[in-house]
Amino acid sequence: MRRITSDVAVHVDAAHGEGPVWLDDEDRLLWVDIPRSQVHRTDVESGEDDVIEVGQHVGAAVPRTGGGLALALADGFALREADGAIEFVAPVTQDDPDVRFNDGKCDPVGRFLAGTMAYDARPGAGSLFRLDPDRTVTRLLDGVTVSNGLAWSGDGGTFYYIDTRTSRIDAFDYDLGNGNIANGRTIAAIPADDGHPDGMAIDTEGCLWVALFGGGAVHRYTPDGRLDALVNLPVTQVTSCSFGGPHLDRLYMTTSTAGLERPDEQPLAGAVFVCAPGVSGPPASRYAG
Ligand code: CA
Repeated sequence: MRRITSDVAVHVDAAHGEGPVWLDDEDRLLWVDIPRSQVHRTDVESGEDDVIEVGQHVGAAVPRTGGGLALALADGFALREADGAIEFVAPVTQDDPDVRFNDGKCDPVGRFLAGTMAYDARPGAGSLFRLDPDRTVTRLLDGVTVSNGLAWSGDGGTFYYIDTRTSRIDAFDYDLGNGNIANGRTIAAIPADDGHPDGMAIDTEGCLWVALFGGGAVHRYTPDGRLDALVNLPVTQVTSCSFGGPHLDRLYMTTSTAGLERPDEQPLAGAVFVCAPGVSGPPASRYAG
């Protein structure tokens, strides 16, 4: 197994950094700090960090094809224009204040998938939703506990998904024509000692890079579930990862201070880390609405 070291990319002190997305048109890393209700657009070379306040806990932010952002907020899906105006297009969790959106990502043709979780992470209170470019919403899964990582195979025909509580990576057949999922199965089960699977990214070889919350690592799994590479971080609460850099050959990793009993022992918790994974990733897909 290949072992890869990481470095701090940006000395930020996120409370709970999440959801990195590389913006290839401006060479910046987009990521969220969920409890601070912030979206960050960070220049990883200079460290310049543009902070966007979105007014609610934000589980995920993705770029749109026409500019601006699509957001998965505590109350549901919203669109943010470049001038800062935010419009709720699908307030699916507004009537359930105990539930908020968590991780989300766009499929290869520009639908935005994002899932939910209860603030107390009670089992089965979450769902996975799909926001189509015409702003209609479909619930793809229910009974989810902590909806987290999402990724699509290079041909778009397989959707990979993590509900953290299951400690699994699951795969589904994905219909690119209508955005529906079918035939769920498990491709990898992650031992509790390794940490809790959280966000993930896919590389151009079809392998999955999975952040392990509490595990201080990112694992690479082949599509048949074999662990073949491991990135070590000097902090335990690793939340998600994304390919980035001008050649999409760096892996950026967000981290958190959540759940640390002795945060003073991990002064770098909350920073954004980077490594050279030896493989590149596909460009991030944008919301087409
Ligand atoms: Ca997460």
